[in-house]
Amino acid sequence: MEYSSTRDQNLKASAARAILTGLAPDGGLFVPNSFPSLDFERLQGKPYTQVAFSILRLFLPDYDEDFLKKAIESSYGDNFGGKAGELAKLTDDLYSLELWHGPTSAFKDYALQLMPKLLVEARGMLGEKGETIILVATSGDTGSAALAGYSGREKVKIAVFYPDSGTSLLQQLQMTTQTGGNVAVYSVRGNFDDAQRGVKRAFTNRELAQKLAEKDAKLSSANSINWGRLVPQIVYYATSYLKLCQAGRLSYGQPLDFCVPTGNFGDIMAGWYAKQMGLPIGRLICASNKNNVLAEFLETGRYNANRDFFKTSSPSMDILVSSNLERLLYHAGGSDAKVKDWMGQLAGQGGYTVDTGVLEAIRGTFAAGWADETEVFAEIQCIHREHGYLCDPHTAVAFKVAGALKQQAPVVVLSTASPYKFSREVLGALGQPAPENEFDALRALEAFSGVKAPENLSSLADKPVRFTDIIDAESIETIPLEL
Ligand SMILES: *Cc1c(COP(=O)(O)O)cnc(C)c1O
Repeated sequence: MEYSSTRDQNLKASAARAILTGLAPDGGLFVPNSFPSLDFERLQGKPYTQVAFSILRLFLPDYDEDFLKKAIESSYGDNFGGKAGELAKLTDDLYSLELWHGPTSAFKDYALQLMPKLLVEARGMLGEKGETIILVATSGDTGSAALAGYSGREKVKIAVFYPDSGTSLLQQLQMTTQTGGNVAVYSVRGNFDDAQRGVKRAFTNRELAQKLAEKDAKLSSANSINWGRLVPQIVYYATSYLKLCQAGRLSYGQPLDFCVPTGNFGDIMAGWYAKQMGLPIGRLICASNKNNVLAEFLETGRYNANRDFFKTSSPSMDILVSSNLERLLYHAGGSDAKVKDWMGQLAGQGGYTVDTGVLEAIRGTFAAGWADETEVFAEIQCIHREHGYLCDPHTAVAFKVAGALKQQAPVVVLSTASPYKFSREVLGALGQPAPENEFDALRALEAFSGVKAPENLSSLADKPVRFTDIIDAESIETIPLEL
């Protein structure tokens, strides 16, 4: 199994190299050169960790199998409270794949519990001796999940930068109370773009790279374009399908649709890889919020990032340039040269149009829709009224779109965040008073639903805050040398 860049087929890497490097040297993304096929049917009834191992060993053949087994056990066992791949039934035709039972109550834990272990192992496999410094600009979920995943890893340090005017109080406390000697967290004056620009400047600063090299250190990213973040997400598509077979809802081979609340296109892309491996997925339904650039692209073949940016109640989907789509364009029949051209147009003019053949290939599997804010809040209420089920605004986007595009096959909606992470919004949608203070809101939602919030969220109020530094975006470049 080899990987190559979406922008140059001849730029090749092993799985370990792809994970250690992140982005390919030409700016493309690493993609597998072939799709291993797997007899999923024989995995029915097996635990999450075993399904994970069967899938991951095929994509990561250069990794030692004992290492993989242990890494998988320690990533998806106790820290998911035994609920990795939890599937809740709303009706015979509608299911919620609860991806928020991990340490930070958002689906990014699936990738970021395992990927740091893959990266540390890759360093050893490739003889990397120095230190790896991970820099992350975050608007919320990525920062806390990355900190939780990298805390305590050897020879790796991580610094997270969040906008002082951006994240929710819960998200901020998830970061600033993080334990571990190798982590650091900074509040950056400005918005997410300021923090992101500062981090990008650090990555392109040659003088900084030189000084770090003298200290035998290198910068790296925990961004979702890394193959190591995508590959763990294939697993829960398979376990969902197999659970519905076991429950007698599907006989193996019948199609199952998945509806995915989408931002950077990483989560839904993992479903596409599952399908290429032979999992009988019917449609992959891409659900966008009011920033509907992806839904529009999947309808028309025109990607147009020149549009207004909306801040919505589903902030992790507030994205105009959706990086992982590049992988799909490549696989769907755009050559490396075409992908390079389209990405050049995107960087230069803010958009591109793919050929009809490529669009048709994509539309063979993908459907798409979007929901505006009014629809999202109405959907939270509707899902609760009809099924007694609470969902957060990201998940509600997907429920809304799943309902609108429903066909014959049953649908699994990927539920990407715990409703308690967005208690105020959920209470508001349910017509309940929503206290200003987020912990009061969390307790009010607990009282309303009769279900306890995840311990990692409710306990935040009592944890000591370790990081209080507020810096200018310009200072981000100086941080790696101080770590
Ligand atoms: C990151 C995130 C998403 C979007 O996932 P992508 O892989 O970027 O498409 C959706 N919901 C939540 C809660 C997230 O944190």
